Parts: sequence; C-alpha cells; structure tokens
Amino acid sequence: MSPFKSHMQTALLEARAAAERGEVPVGALILGADGTVLAQAGNRTRELCDPTAHAEILAIRAACAALGSERLTGCALYVTLEPCAMCAAAISAARIARVYYGASDPKSGGVAQGARVFDRAQSHHRPDVYDGIAGAEAEELLREFFAERRGT
Ligand SMILES: [Zn+2]
Repeated sequence: MSPFKSHMQTALLEARAAAERGEVPVGALILGADGTVLAQAGNRTRELCDPTAHAEILAIRAACAALGSERLTGCALYVTLEPCAMCAAAISAARIARVYYGASDPKSGGVAQGARVFDRAQSHHRPDVYDGIAGAEAEELLREFFAERRGT
C-alpha cells in the first residue's frame, strides 16, 4: 500500500472510532516533515461540548503541542472529509504544507466549494491539496452513520 493510502486508512480508523462514540465520522492524521505521525484524532464535538472540536482542529492542536510550535511547516494533514471553512483557516494559519482529503463535502466543505478559503487573497498560506484519497470509503462511513441516525 502506498504511504498516503496507509495514512488515510489510519484517518479512517479514527473516523470509525468517532462514529462509535456517536460523533460524525471524520478522522484526521498529521505527518511531520520527517514523516513521523505527530497526531491523529477524530471528531469530538459532542463529547467535549465544543463546536470547534473537529478532527482537524484536534489533530492540529496535538501536533503543535508535540512540536512546541504554533506552526506545522512542512507537515501533511490527512482527513477523511473535505475540511470546513473553520478548519481550512486553521490549516492555513498552521502553515501545513499538504492536505490530503477523502470525500468532498457539498454541505460544509470550505476548500473546493463554499468559502474556498485557500483561494482567498486573505489566505496567508495555501497548502497543496489532493482530494479523493479513499473518498468512497469515507463517504460510505458518513452515509451509514446518518442512515442509522435516521433509523433507516
Ligand atoms: Zn472543520
């Protein structure tokens, strides 16, 4: 398995664990500039009563704490769903070099649609973005989760 696929598999495991906690199944992983895994996280908005506790935000906080830095220069973020506008702004502020995401998010996505945060002149830093990495799996996970919650 290619390295970027295996990191996305770990992010998918985080997404599955989030679903088991009753959270929207989104998972993220941050790789350091040297290729070591700095952080991995799943959504915890319900558990933490925190609307900002998206997988990406939790992973960015943990990776910054691990490096003792407010910047994640040279790091890569893997996330199972297209980041929302809030997370995209945090990714830009953290100076993350590369973003790999799975499913696109027509409702809340802020990268390829909606706010398109990285395309704004106000964006301080534009990471390289690669979409559709294990996108079908990430989408299926979300579909199952919302189908179960609707009781269908
Ligand atoms: Zn987000």
